Amino acid sequence: MKFYSTNNPSLRVSMEEALLRSLPADRGLYMPETIPFMGADFFNSISDGSLSDIGFQVSKALFKDSIPSDKLEELVHHAFPFDTPVVTLEDGKTHVLELFHGPSLAFKDVGARYMAAMMGYYLEKSNQEVHILVATSGDTGGAVAMGFLGVPGIKVTILYPSGRVSDLQEKQLTTLGQNITAIEVDGSFDDCQALVKTAFTDSELNRQFRLASANSINIFRLIPQSFYYARAYGQVKQFGKPVVFSTPSGNFGNLSAGALAYKMGLPVQQFIASTNLNYVVPKYLETGIYEPKPSVETISNAMDVGSPSNFVRLTHLFDDHYETLKQILTGYFFNDEQTKQAMEAVYQQFDYVMCPHTAVGYLGLTSYQQSNPGVCGITLATAHPAKFKELVESVIHKPVEIPAALEELMNRPKHSFKMKADFDEFKEFLLQTA
Ligand SMILES: *Cc1c(COP(=O)(O)O)cnc(C)c1O
Repeated sequence: MKFYSTNNPSLRVSMEEALLRSLPADRGLYMPETIPFMGADFFNSISDGSLSDIGFQVSKALFKDSIPSDKLEELVHHAFPFDTPVVTLEDGKTHVLELFHGPSLAFKDVGARYMAAMMGYYLEKSNQEVHILVATSGDTGGAVAMGFLGVPGIKVTILYPSGRVSDLQEKQLTTLGQNITAIEVDGSFDDCQALVKTAFTDSELNRQFRLASANSINIFRLIPQSFYYARAYGQVKQFGKPVVFSTPSGNFGNLSAGALAYKMGLPVQQFIASTNLNYVVPKYLETGIYEPKPSVETISNAMDVGSPSNFVRLTHLFDDHYETLKQILTGYFFNDEQTKQAMEAVYQQFDYVMCPHTAVGYLGLTSYQQSNPGVCGITLATAHPAKFKELVESVIHKPVEIPAALEELMNRPKHSFKMKADFDEFKEFLLQTA
């Protein structure tokens, strides 16, 4: 399998290069040269396949010429020791695809763990080392830290804004040790991101290290997210109704992965792009005008993105034509008040607890169903409600339990290096720990 750049369709690079470089030099995004059409038989035969079974079948279709099949099977099974079950709220009408059973309790585990497994394979084979730099406002850092923990050949440095991530998120970043280092920056998320971006362009650092990114611009975080759309379809096809997915979205990696599954032949009637007040994509679907904006803060803060980096992939995959895109994709956006009301209503009606991001997805689904009754709806649940414990408890007035594995992290001591938002200091730190 080769990859091209969205800015230059005639460019072709190997799987290894797309994986380790993350971004083509022309600042486009890597895309697979061909997307295998899996066919109706495949999707109709997966009702009881686990995430790793489906993941292996699709990975084989994509990468059999790059990685031997038995090795690929081992890597995929190692990446997914957890499943992504569908929970039914109303038979054949309202379902929740729970993507939060991985180690950091958010869907980003799926992409981070698959990418880590693939990187580990190539680095071991070529005896190389890679240094991953990540800036995080919370969720990405946790998934990357836990996904890359202990992977040979990989060192991870995570920068996060001091005092601006939740206690639970901070513990995920700062208590693991081994190959994971956390830097607590006296500044904002944007300061952290600026330090990382400058590091990627610094010639001395690039001579010393092979620097890499684990952001969702890396196509290997996105590919595995297509597997769980297929997994969910397998679980609801027994109802014999047209299937729609509602994806709570920020950077639009998750929805792009749905588009990838669609290209593989997944029988979906409609995708729903559900956002908070960072609504550039729903507005685009309404007006045809794409207008990125500075982000606004909401309670579904992992979706506070004003200029989604995967928008190009989304349009590329579904269709570059606005009119045809509109046939398969519907957009809705909601404010914080509506989100809290939905969390409360779902709890009252179904005794089910949603995180605020998942509640935005649920709102998108119910809005669509008002004018399209009779469809089987699946909302993607992107995080465990315990990740947003204080907020969720204040809405549903009931304690939210933290899963045991995370409770254990909460008792571990924090290790972080405090630093000002100063590039020279950051660079010196990296060079000393080389
Ligand atoms: C990252 C994240 C999102 C947004 O996903 P995108 O792929 O960026 O659209 C939604 N919900 C949660 C909980 C997240 O962590």
